[in-house]
Amino acid sequence: SYRKGGYHAVRIGDPFSGGRYIAQRKLGWGQFSTVWLAYDTLSSSYVALKIQKSAQQFAQAALHEIEFLSAAADGDLQNTKCVVRLIDHFKHAGPNGQHLCMVLEFLGDSLLRLIRYNRYKGLKLDKVREICRCVLTGLDYLHRELGMIHSDLKPENILLCSTIDPCKDPVRSGLTPLLEKPEGNANGGGGSSTMNLIEKKLKRRAKRAVAKISERRVSMVGGEEASSKTEKSLDGIDMRCKVVDFGNACWADKQFAEEIQTRQYRAPEVILQSGYSFSVDMWSFGCTAFELVTGDMLFAPKEGNGYGEDEDHLALMMELLGKMPRKIAIGGARSKDYFDRHGDLKRIRRLKYWPLDRLLVDKYKLPEAEAKEFAEFLSPILEFAPEKRPTAQQCLEHPWMNVVSTQNNADNVESQMRNLHIKG
Ligand code: ATP
Ligand code: MG
Ligand code: MG
Repeated sequence: SYRKGGYHAVRIGDPFSGGRYIAQRKLGWGQFSTVWLAYDTLSSSYVALKIQKSAQQFAQAALHEIEFLSAAADGDLQNTKCVVRLIDHFKHAGPNGQHLCMVLEFLGDSLLRLIRYNRYKGLKLDKVREICRCVLTGLDYLHRELGMIHSDLKPENILLCSTIDPCKDPVRSGLTPLLEKPEGNANGGGGSSTMNLIEKKLKRRAKRAVAKISERRVSMVGGEEASSKTEKSLDGIDMRCKVVDFGNACWADKQFAEEIQTRQYRAPEVILQSGYSFSVDMWSFGCTAFELVTGDMLFAPKEGNGYGEDEDHLALMMELLGKMPRKIAIGGARSKDYFDRHGDLKRIRRLKYWPLDRLLVDKYKLPEAEAKEFAEFLSPILEFAPEKRPTAQQCLEHPWMNVVSTQNNADNVESQMRNLHIKG
């Protein structure tokens, strides 16, 4: 993909936007882009630089993403709404063409990595609650204040807020500040031959600030894949996070795609093509919350003998949530592909009902009371009827979100006792 119209090859130390940003190391990539940690010489801080492939359709997609990221930034001047911040954007000319680049605030690991790091065992409910509070805050903002549907919510697109400054904490962050010029940084400087004084000055500052790559990843949780046998503790780690990846976002009143969302997080109305709204994000949120608690995807449909992935997906939903109301089952443009006129699946006839609260206890060994409370929070979010699902705002007010943890309770009791003791 590193050819005309494709990715831009980046080397450590490469300057971008007239020398303002200096590439440090690769953070991730997607089908359309590579994402780099870069040093912003203007603000003396680290940023994430998303460099899009150069062909016309990728540039178009990047402009789309910039539209949504800009709208989100404009309505959140305090940067408190749990959505990744767009700092800057520009074009970068390289050997493979013109690449649109987005400069984003630098965040930490994705929730997918966090789940992996925790060896797919699921997180403690208090941690899940903290994460849910951030995600719901982000969704509430996008939905209610902006009229925006994210359309691709999933653990991979929720990043922990990195509290580590790679400059101040080079060891933990895996970055070592480098004082001399790194090798081979002559490439891809935006093609400017007449560099003015400011740019020269910026470049000198940048060179001083350039940091060296290390094998270790910048991350809050240390980064290694959970391969070792040892139990890893997430105690004391702050679970604040932000929603990222606005490449598939749309305005509720201006939709263009029929098939949205990543398969496992796709809402039933999208599969059936019955029209969709904000509540598709709530469905994905429900799937994500379950995955955080259990370490397993809620629905992982597979094509089988005589039926497709979509029908398996619908079957899995009904095995967990009960039969889909007939009116909803037969109400979509694609309904006839999967359901007969009675509202039964055409090819998958025998379903094994295993409701959420039982699943959480029997398979995932949650204590009865915790399972019941979490299932009471999650079940309405996984309603087949989209209009019956609670909004993000309503979820934030749900008792499960506002439980005082037993640990906190114990702490409170203890501190009250201490107070009494002092006063007494
Ligand atoms: P594409 O559109 O190119 O298919 P994508 O839409 O999945 O890819 P993103 O999700 O925005 O692209 O970014 C890809 C990866 O880059 C993320 O999963 C994450 O690992 C990393 N990344 C993205 N943004 C940031 C950020 N602000 N801070 C740190 N890492 C980031
Ligand atoms: Mg993504
Ligand atoms: Mg994308």
